[in-house]
Formats: sequence, C-alpha cells, structure tokens
Amino acid sequence: MPERLDRFMERAASAYYAGRDPFGQAGDFTTAPEISQAFGECLGLWAAVTWQMMGAPAPVRLVELGPGRGTLMADALRAVGEVMPAFRAAVEVHLVETSPTLRAAQAARLPGTQWHDRLEDVPPGPTILLANEFFDALPIRQFIRREGGWRERFVQDGGFVEHAVEAAPPLPETAPEGAIQEYSAASLAIAHHLAGRLRMQGGAALVLDYGPAAEGFGDSLQAMTRHGPADPLAGPGSVDITAHVRFPALAAEARSAGAAVHGPLPMGLFLQRLGLMSRAAILARANPRAAGLILSGAERLVAPEGMGRLFKVLGLCHPGLAIPPGFEPA
Ligand code: SAH
Repeated sequence: MPERLDRFMERAASAYYAGRDPFGQAGDFTTAPEISQAFGECLGLWAAVTWQMMGAPAPVRLVELGPGRGTLMADALRAVGEVMPAFRAAVEVHLVETSPTLRAAQAARLPGTQWHDRLEDVPPGPTILLANEFFDALPIRQFIRREGGWRERFVQDGGFVEHAVEAAPPLPETAPEGAIQEYSAASLAIAHHLAGRLRMQGGAALVLDYGPAAEGFGDSLQAMTRHGPADPLAGPGSVDITAHVRFPALAAEARSAGAAVHGPLPMGLFLQRLGLMSRAAILARANPRAAGLILSGAERLVAPEGMGRLFKVLGLCHPGLAIPPGFEPA
C-alpha cells in the first residue's frame, strides 16, 4: 500500500526517537547544543534579556520544543542562574517531547521540569520558547509538477510513487515540469498556535533550524545515520529523517496569526551578535587543555562553511515587544 509521505515520515520519526538517544559521536548526528555549551548559554542570556523587555513577568514559562538530551536548557539555566537570578527564579520550565527515552535523559539533567506531548498542553501565561532542530523533524508532503498540474509523492516498497492530489494545500499556480513543492501542515499548525499564544499572552520565541531564507522548489528530504547520509525511505525508524524548514512559510503563518516576525537571519550572524565567540574565548581560557576543541566547536556554529549560513534563526514576538537581542537592523 502506498503511504503518503507525511504519514510515512511521522511514523519513521516517532519510531526513530522513541527508542534511542541519537546524538553525539556514538550516535547518528550532532546538534549545536552538543557542539558547544556556549550555544545554550547565549540563548539563555537572550531569554533573560527578552524577559526584561517583556516587563519581567513572574512566573514566565520557559518552553523548549524537542529538547533532545536537555543540553541546551541545562546550559541556558546555568548561565542565567549566574547572571540574572531574578529571571531564574521566575522561570517555570516546560518541555514538549514525545520520546520516552529522551524524556528520561532530560529528567536526569533538568529536575523540576514539566513535560507535555504538545505545545497546546503548556499552561497559558507569558512565554519564552526555544526550538532548535525541532521543525526539521516534522512531517512534510511533497508535490511534483507533471504536465501542467500537481501530483503527490507517496512511499511504496522503499521508493516514491506519484498519485493524484487529495485535499491539496495552497500550491503555486505555475512551476517548471518536475519541480517539487514541499509543505508541512504540522509545522504551520505549530507556528500558528505559537503566534496566537504570543499575541494573546505575551512573549517571544526563537526557531533555530536549517533551510533557505527564500522560497523555492526542491526536494530537501534527507536522512543521517552514523554521521553520514542515508536513504530517507530506508526502513522507517532506522535513520534520522528530516527536511528543510520553509522559513518564509513559517514567518507568513506566524504573521497571519498576529505575531511580529524578525529574521530569518543566518545563525552565524545571530550568534556572533549574542557574543558566542567571546563566551567561547572565556571558556577556552578557563580550560586550556580543551581550548582547541572549545574554540573549534564555537567556530563551527558561526562559520559560513559550517552551520553559520545554512542554519537560520527566526524570531516570533508579541507585536508590542521591542526588537529582541540579535535582530537589530544592521
Ligand atoms: N533540540 C535538540 C534535539 C533535536 S532532535 C538538540 O538540538 O539537540 C528533535 C527533537 O524533537 C527530539 O528531542 C525528538 O524526540 C523531538 N520530537 C520530534 N518530533 C516531535 C514531535 N512531533 N513532538 C514532540 N517532540 C518531537
């Protein structure tokens, strides 16, 4: 039976994350918080300054979508505990995570945390939200241009088959033959809910992920295993399957739901503005034996040929909030 790509991807992603910790050297891939502790520290300080701009509400929900091992949140909380204890005291941590294995890993690092399956379940109130490499794991549909119309890609026996489109989302009216348009209903629904929440209850969110800054056609479905490329349609759950985040579409959805939108900016520029390299230099001086590793890790996050250009940062805010740190016009 052919299976629509988003349904295949949802099944594959939940099977993949349910039973394993895929991060780091021994796993399948490495993410920014696992590369440098300065990443979570800078985002924690971003959250603290943003909280002050919000008028320092207490309590404030500090929410993370798809927190992995809990590294980003642990680094963020440690940093703000030192620099802005009033913010630390106001913070209530809420993690949105579906994987039982990763929830256990997060619990070991983040005592006193609350977990939810969905963002909708986080109690209302002023919110600061972080999502790093979360949206790229959400299911997408792919439409392919054939003879002046759109067909949809389904998965069958480890390959693609094309079928007539049922319940089509909005698609471009014209496209070159063979062009592929991706569409993630799950991502748009979360962006919509998040924006509505920020508009009504106040707050700000950062979406950090990989994908182009402008709209375009193309097949971005990909998979990783053991730090190398893999066949995304191979045995569901055996490889990490992701797709590029469509930042312009997320931004438009959030704007239509009433949020102010900043960026997307290249992640390297954003992290440099937050002082990531200076923080790494301080860490390196404090630990001379690991200095090389600390500096090269931070460099990888900001360098254009590393993660600094492909990765983007999108800011979503309550419309009354001033421009949050890092998004100042150049
Ligand atoms: N942010 C972490 C992990 C990224 S991997 C880091 O940067 O290291 C993706 C994370 O999202 C994992 O924690 C995975 O279990 C979680 N996840 C994937 N799909 C999800 C969904 N639909 N709902 C909630 N969590 C999900």
